[in-house]
Amino acid sequence: MRKTMLVVDRRYMNHFAGQVHPERPARVAAMIEMVESLKRAALKHSAPRAASIDELLLCHSVEYVAEVERTSGCERTDFDPDTHASAETWATARLAAGGVLTAVEAVLDGEAENGFAVVRPPGHHALPQRAMGFCFFNNVAIAASWLVKVRGIRRVLILDWDVHHGNGTQELFYQSPEVLYMSTHQYPFYPGTGWLDQIGSDAGTGFTVNAPVPATFGDDEYMRIFDQLLMPIARQFQPEFVLISAGFDAHFRDPLGGMRLTEGGFLAMTQRLQRLADQYCDGRMVAALEGGYDLRALAECGRTVVNELGRDGGDHINAAQNAPRAEPIIQRARYFLKDYWTLDMDN
Ligand SMILES: [Zn+2]
Repeated sequence: MRKTMLVVDRRYMNHFAGQVHPERPARVAAMIEMVESLKRAALKHSAPRAASIDELLLCHSVEYVAEVERTSGCERTDFDPDTHASAETWATARLAAGGVLTAVEAVLDGEAENGFAVVRPPGHHALPQRAMGFCFFNNVAIAASWLVKVRGIRRVLILDWDVHHGNGTQELFYQSPEVLYMSTHQYPFYPGTGWLDQIGSDAGTGFTVNAPVPATFGDDEYMRIFDQLLMPIARQFQPEFVLISAGFDAHFRDPLGGMRLTEGGFLAMTQRLQRLADQYCDGRMVAALEGGYDLRALAECGRTVVNELGRDGGDHINAAQNAPRAEPIIQRARYFLKDYWTLDMDN
């Protein structure tokens, strides 16, 4: 049994995104209920700390941080048609960024082997100077920057399996060879970024890997993309820490996404990342909640990931089945990335 640090807190329910908004406090309530039903002895719990202003500034501008701070105590501030702050958003968003840091610190300092931060508001659409897509501060990106700049970690892998492309995370590390950003996402879809030819720039060229996929892809197609594209690159990168932008809106029951993943798909992705982390960084891995808007799917996928994080390595992982619909995407992605990674073009 591995020790997993679970960070979740009722205060994550304090941000209110608006009436009839899918990104709602009940999402955290569903996760808390799931967590309380777990009977895992090796599960450690920690309350999140608030990210400091300096930590927010690792990824955001002074002006933008001040802009979010000014919403504190105001009943409602609109950032874009989908992204609204309430009186408690500033405090909650700082707690979300700090929650991922809490889990990452625990893993780095050996208090736990891996972690899962059940935070909201989510983060991966948040840009350096702008809130968008329900996101205010880029929780996972802040953790990655913190690992590199504060703790001297040289290579961080961010795997983003949320059904939406993490445009904010991509932009933040587009020129950085220290953070490998990989995303599977529905395409075309919100926010419109994440095509195959977006592979990074300057010293970061090759360190952004996008797998844009059409709606209706399921477990088999995702596994094939992991086995034939993402994991071979991740192994060559040799991460010193693995972060997962763990949205659960690619689940077949999700009302926003059009994918057909089951709990089994999320299990298989977690297993592959866990094996990767075992091979290169003593299993150091932290998942952070992004999207996921069906409460039952959220709780069941959350349970699947937490349980898998607790399992010791060495399990046999079934290789992906043939998934003909995934092949053209894998081939085209390899074409764009072939100068930067060794990829078997015939297989
Ligand atoms: Zn999403």
